[in-house]
Amino acid sequence: MKRVGVIGGGQLAWMMADAAQKLGVELVVQTPSVHDPAVSIAQETVFAPVDDAIATEILAQKCDVITFENEFVNLQALSVLAQQGVCFRPRLEALAPLLDKYHQRCYLRDLGLPVPQFFALEEVGNLKSKIEYLGFPAVLKSRRHGYDGQGTFIIKDFATLEQKLSYETKTKPLNKSLFLLEEFVPFERELAIIAARSVEGEIVTYPVVETQQEQQVCRRVIAPVQITPNQVAEIQAIAHTLLNSLEVVGIFGIELFLGANGKVLVNEIAPRTHNSGHFSIDACETSQFEQHLRAVCGLPLGNPALQCAGAVMVNLLGYENSHSDYQSQRHQIAEIPQAHLHWYGKTESRPGRKLGHVTVLLENQNRESASVIAHTIESIWYPK
Ligand code: ADP
Repeated sequence: MKRVGVIGGGQLAWMMADAAQKLGVELVVQTPSVHDPAVSIAQETVFAPVDDAIATEILAQKCDVITFENEFVNLQALSVLAQQGVCFRPRLEALAPLLDKYHQRCYLRDLGLPVPQFFALEEVGNLKSKIEYLGFPAVLKSRRHGYDGQGTFIIKDFATLEQKLSYETKTKPLNKSLFLLEEFVPFERELAIIAARSVEGEIVTYPVVETQQEQQVCRRVIAPVQITPNQVAEIQAIAHTLLNSLEVVGIFGIELFLGANGKVLVNEIAPRTHNSGHFSIDACETSQFEQHLRAVCGLPLGNPALQCAGAVMVNLLGYENSHSDYQSQRHQIAEIPQAHLHWYGKTESRPGRKLGHVTVLLENQNRESASVIAHTIESIWYPK
């Protein structure tokens, strides 16, 4: 029996429950609120924010290994625990270059991986000439703590950039070191790959998927994406290079852009299980959650292959402030043939909040039929 500490108690930790039970693993969660989804499935909970390293010291006493469902931790404080022998998987050194989006871009570039053109705002001597080099639209990003598109802004001209920067700094003094500026990639599609690496250094990758974002938030995932075998091989090679270079133990999600010219660029790395891998719970022999627990517990990795021709995953995002549990919509969605509904049990709905997801298994790999099913789900879920 292994006890795994999980920093963060959201839906990603909650979705580890079935896998934990299957593997005979107990989960101990560090999360601030009694209402967080994973509290109900945890053997024990340490109630504290994810960046509270004193709480993580308590967590460490209760388990054999610590992993992350949320990477916004205080690495410096945790490194003291690591020096005292606390086992973090992935290791803290694997997270260190990734938590700041500018450092992450630099790390990927230095590894020789393809990334969009980018600058740190603090480095930009002449902002105007640099941004003219990138051209408009450009993308302004908060370097830290961005998720679900929070902190990502598409900038259409210089005036908008100046306005955005002064708006962002109204309440605090202007700190350009908080921002990254990059080229807008006119992608044809967005892709993602989930990859896992074991303690022994074995790597497995899941099928490359298409992700569809609206207002920078993931709405749908189609697995597998129809791209050329060379593109699949290129993306798998990116995953291998990255996970080997960081000596990752566990799951990573890698988000990519596919240009109209067929060129692949890496957008972002998630050092944990990822929304783009949720289809694996119902569609793959080994889910990303089981795979992650296998890796961090030092078990051999499982088979990541699809058990069906394809799958489409649709996020159920909040669209109002409410305490409803949406029984009627959930019931209708669950009636769709081959549909698997996952409801995170959050007590409060807010616009954009991820409340659940549904995966529908497909008999073919037809993008059009996947889109029709996604549309059916969304027309049940979202009010007219
Ligand atoms: P987050 O960390 O908040 O998920 P991302 O950097 O992944 O932020 O951006 C969210 C979405 O914004 C992406 O999925 C994509 O649709 C869009 N986006 C981000 N960066 C760019 C870019 N350089 N060019 C075009 N679109 C972008």
